[in-house]
Amino acid sequence: MKKNEFPEDIQPCLLPEPEPHDKMLYYCLGCHREFDILNLLYTCPECGGILLLRDKDAERLNKVGGKFWQRLFDYRKMLNHQALKGVFLFYEFIAPVIPLRDIIYLGEGHTPLVKANKCLRDYVGADFYFKHDGLNPSASFKDRGMACALSFVNYLARQKGMQDIIAICASTGDTSASAALYASYMGDKIKSAVILPAGKVTPQQLAQPLGSGAKVIEIPGVFDDCMKVVEALSCKYNVVLLNSKNSWRILGQESFAYEIAQGLDYDVEGKAVFVPIGNAGNISAVLSGFLKFFHAGVINSLPKIIGVQSEHADPVFQYYRETDPDKRKFVPVAVKSSVAQAAMIGNPVSMPRVIELVNEYNLSAGEQKVFVVQVTEQEIMDAMIVANRNGNIACTQGGESLAGLIRAMEERTVMPDEVSILDSTAHILKFAMFQNMYFNDKFTSEYNVTPKKEFSNVPVQISPEGECPLPGKPLENDALNRFVDRVAEEVARKLQLKKTT
Ligand SMILES: *Cc1c(COP(=O)(O)O)cnc(C)c1O
Ligand SMILES: [Zn+2]
Repeated sequence: MKKNEFPEDIQPCLLPEPEPHDKMLYYCLGCHREFDILNLLYTCPECGGILLLRDKDAERLNKVGGKFWQRLFDYRKMLNHQALKGVFLFYEFIAPVIPLRDIIYLGEGHTPLVKANKCLRDYVGADFYFKHDGLNPSASFKDRGMACALSFVNYLARQKGMQDIIAICASTGDTSASAALYASYMGDKIKSAVILPAGKVTPQQLAQPLGSGAKVIEIPGVFDDCMKVVEALSCKYNVVLLNSKNSWRILGQESFAYEIAQGLDYDVEGKAVFVPIGNAGNISAVLSGFLKFFHAGVINSLPKIIGVQSEHADPVFQYYRETDPDKRKFVPVAVKSSVAQAAMIGNPVSMPRVIELVNEYNLSAGEQKVFVVQVTEQEIMDAMIVANRNGNIACTQGGESLAGLIRAMEERTVMPDEVSILDSTAHILKFAMFQNMYFNDKFTSEYNVTPKKEFSNVPVQISPEGECPLPGKPLENDALNRFVDRVAEEVARKLQLKKTT
């Protein structure tokens, strides 16, 4: 829609002006000091604590009135302006210091809410939706945060005349795919390097950064080890760190919460949002996003947030298992092989953010609204397979969300009359190898998964007698007819087709 066709009160706000950069600050969760955003910081220079970005003047957002924001965001969806088409549709709530000209948009965000069909509904015993974040450009939610982080780097590079930037990240697969994709769009300005645990990312995830031209470095160990290496590098060398330690990523990922609110016409009463937890950046962003919308009156209540972890990588679940907050103590766990490989993390970097935000969330809601549930590898796989047999494209982490919903219903954390939104964080195609292992009964014992026979699905081979077409040697005339008849007969037999009368 053209600008002059929008309602008159909306028109002046459609294209936002950036706020002065000192409106936003890094805030240290350890020592509570604040730092200027024009320095790229990943941890507190004073105490080493984890940072969050804060809008120093959030009050100006809260004063406008929620109704106005709802209308602005709904109208903005009809505006054709590249910079505001993705996660920056919610510009004012994400990073209102980045000029529109620096924003990088590759098609991220605005992923669909797909309602569970009747079969899935009956399977679970409640209504729910998948939000398919696998439909992002690099096929995972990581693009939301990367769009924000690299837009900021783009802005900073222009401001400071930075050249030859090297961006690095450790990854369970999807962060590197996303970082490499966005960096490749920026051309010569930035080169990306990714550090992966050898043999612990899927072939598809490995292909992605390679295709985007990133330097891919594989090291022994698991993700937690890669993270330590990247941290050491970012302390000593001049590199841009793109892990979720980089708080600009958290801001972009808040869009997941904003889109859920918008997709439900801002009515989140009686809703529960399920998020698989790995490094805990995503759940931090979801909590922060709903909180910001709540404080600004864009939503009138806070939905339940339910984090899900596999029993093979469950440090956050273990932390909240202790009900007395004073007795809680965070202890990293040693992870075991998990089909939810993207969440296979024993020492989540964002744990301090989780602790802070969960506290604030429950306080703001006036009751406990954040929960963490634990599921088995078996439950994750069964849930993913069932979801995808009913019209979804859920990855193993999406299966983890669904398994989490089933667990939460059993524990009565979520009631049958509540409606859930499940984060399917990536596309199944990235995790096809786990589907293969399930269908072909190829899980090694470390996973503890026994495929259900009734779900198995493998290709059926037909090898007809007689002449067959070969590449470059097609059959013709009678030979082709004989081949088609024989194969058609065989297919009809396999499918038990009935003849037309
Ligand atoms: C990164 C990732 C997760 C875990 O998200 P965190 O922010 O690390 O908790 C879950 N699923 C997929 C597909 C991911 O790529
Ligand atoms: Zn500090």
